[in-house]
Amino acid sequence: MKPDTSTQLADYAAHDEQSRGRRHQESHPAYRSEFQRDRDRIVHSTAFRRLVYKTQVFVNQEGDLYRTRLTHSLEVAQIARTIARALNINETLTEAICLAHDLGHTPFGHAGQDALNECMRDHGGFEHNLQSLRIVDELEERYAEFNGLNLSFETREGILKHCSLKNARLLGDVGERFIKREQPSLEAQVANLADEIAYNNHDLDDGLRAGLISIDDAKESPVFSAQYKNVMQQYPVLTGRRLVSEIIRRMIDQVVTDMVDTSRLAIRQAAPKNIDAVRQLDKPLIQLSPAMQSQHIALKQFLRERVYRHFRVLRMTNKAQQVVRGLFTEFMHSPELMPPEHQQVAIRLQQALGDAGRARAVADYIAGMTDRYAVLEHERIFDPAKRS
Ligand code: MG
Repeated sequence: MKPDTSTQLADYAAHDEQSRGRRHQESHPAYRSEFQRDRDRIVHSTAFRRLVYKTQVFVNQEGDLYRTRLTHSLEVAQIARTIARALNINETLTEAICLAHDLGHTPFGHAGQDALNECMRDHGGFEHNLQSLRIVDELEERYAEFNGLNLSFETREGILKHCSLKNARLLGDVGERFIKREQPSLEAQVANLADEIAYNNHDLDDGLRAGLISIDDAKESPVFSAQYKNVMQQYPVLTGRRLVSEIIRRMIDQVVTDMVDTSRLAIRQAAPKNIDAVRQLDKPLIQLSPAMQSQHIALKQFLRERVYRHFRVLRMTNKAQQVVRGLFTEFMHSPELMPPEHQQVAIRLQQALGDAGRARAVADYIAGMTDRYAVLEHERIFDPAKRS
């Protein structure tokens, strides 16, 4: 049996005692590390609980067995923790970043975000990544002394996966690396790639479950067909869900193993002395081998063509966009239709920032909605037969 390596942090890992700290100073937790505290604050946040009713690709009402943002976030954390542990980097920080990485998503997944971004075009745009940071920095209301969750720099650095130069200049400490073209911690890099691995594989799984694609279709993807052959060799009569699950677990294992091996080698070659040396490198050390990378891209492309653009998904996407656009237009025009606490924010932000402020308050309200809440709110606003 392999020894438990979770306590042996490498020099290049994020070390609790070297953290760049929190925006508001707090005393150290008695029994937990700083990153444990971050993870726990994320799990207790309102935005985290909402993830259970937010869509990844398949809208929540379509079935109980599809991934939601919550189960997606847990799968990302599971994959990333395995990798973090294998590379002797900080597993708890990695987990915290993974659990928070999608907090800023609108209802209805990317369809919702695209619609909201379009609505916000003249008011600074909308980007789910920035919104995740905005939630943990500003929008959560849980503590007497500060807004947000007051997370450590390292967790916030990981949450802000990408951002434009224009936004980076407004963000202070966590924006700096985009201006200086530096890397985030290895923990953040692992979370980032684990996200892609998780959704590639589970969107394929969900696409098969929904009947959008068949096993024969999926064999167009080289990673799938290679593992299909392996499973068939070992279990020639296996069919149905069990066959799909056996293939997908092997696909995940293969890509995770490749990622650990390739990244370990890259780390050994670059030999960063500490986390700041990792940040100053010109490219990420967490990576896939070139062969695996091209298979990974092929799978993404397959999903884009065969699942995300399937007419049934597009119909749902279209409906979702209408809901988001309808709500935005109506609330922007008549903020008094929003619940009082959101009206007050709209008034406050309007006074400070003009129309862009009002738009931001409306966007915050809509982005916070779950899929079903957005549908219900849309009915309450537009359907005369519905109670307001
Ligand atoms: Mg994600």
